[in-house]
Amino acid sequence: MIIINCPFCGPRDHSEFGYGGDASIDYPALDAPMDEWHDAIFLRENICGMQAETWHHVNGCRMWLIVERDTMTHEIKSVRPAHGGNAAVLENVAEGGES
Ligand SMILES: [Zn+2]
Repeated sequence: MIIINCPFCGPRDHSEFGYGGDASIDYPALDAPMDEWHDAIFLRENICGMQAETWHHVNGCRMWLIVERDTMTHEIKSVRPAHGGNAAVLENVAEGGES
């Protein structure tokens, strides 16, 4: 069992989330050649160790998260919002500002 500590909802079982894949991939521009899209979509590293991944809290707050997870032990090192705007809201709330 993997417990993901969602920054918005708290600790939740991974079954509430959808796996989005490797978060380190830089996708090409929409009008990029097909071979660039092929490489981005189909050629993946099979990392043995810590990997940044995207997870979607489908059955929760529906936020996209960046999860640093060890692919061998499932240890989770960090969880943060995938979008900078959501991260800024969390920081503002933690500092006692308006949300
Ligand atoms: Zn959540």
